[in-house]
Amino acid sequence: MRRIIAATNNPGKIKEIKQILNDLPFEILSLKDAGVNIRVTEDGSSFEENALKKAMEIFKYTGQAVLADDSGLEVMALGGQPGVYSARFAGENATDEENNAKLLKMLEAVPFERRQAVFRCVVVLVRPDASVLRATGACYGKIGFSPAGRNGFGYDPLFIVDGLGKTFAELTPEEKNVISHRGVALKKLKELIINTNT
Ligand code: IMP
Repeated sequence: MRRIIAATNNPGKIKEIKQILNDLPFEILSLKDAGVNIRVTEDGSSFEENALKKAMEIFKYTGQAVLADDSGLEVMALGGQPGVYSARFAGENATDEENNAKLLKMLEAVPFERRQAVFRCVVVLVRPDASVLRATGACYGKIGFSPAGRNGFGYDPLFIVDGLGKTFAELTPEEKNVISHRGVALKKLKELIINTNT
């Protein structure tokens, strides 16, 4: 069976990628499973640039198909911040709690109707012949005034999904994957893989 190295060691992401691509004839490996121990600095100015950089560097190192993603949160009232800085919004080694606290502080005076936000994700697949497939996903919502829910990670407890009235952290992983930016991008990538006969 052909292999795809997923450019992550995050067990949640690996599980989601495997679930969505499960009926395609590929074995999905994490970096660790593939014995790859390189760290790619995500210093691009867009999600696409970061995802492509990650995938390309690992592809050059392994010569095998690589799937990489990059994602983050854009808040309208903050001109799109934190964007590509989502993971390190409150500082280089910031925890999720610190990032969430900074976001709440910056939005203190902003009323609910102006707290619109969008989670974005770009996934890329570099194939063994170095050709690239890419897909994007977005999920729209609003930033709450305090955290709610215990599931997920990152900004999940603050992100109230449009039309659901619940935060990502109040959804089960399965419920989140159906509508999340990453779930949507991965499903589009799957269609591209099928349609291009990879
Ligand atoms: P990365 O794509 O793993 O580099 O994620 C970048 C950062 O964006 C994460 O550290 C989180 O802060 C944020 N983020 C991305 N996707 C999600 C999500 O589904 N829920 C909550 N936060 C997310």
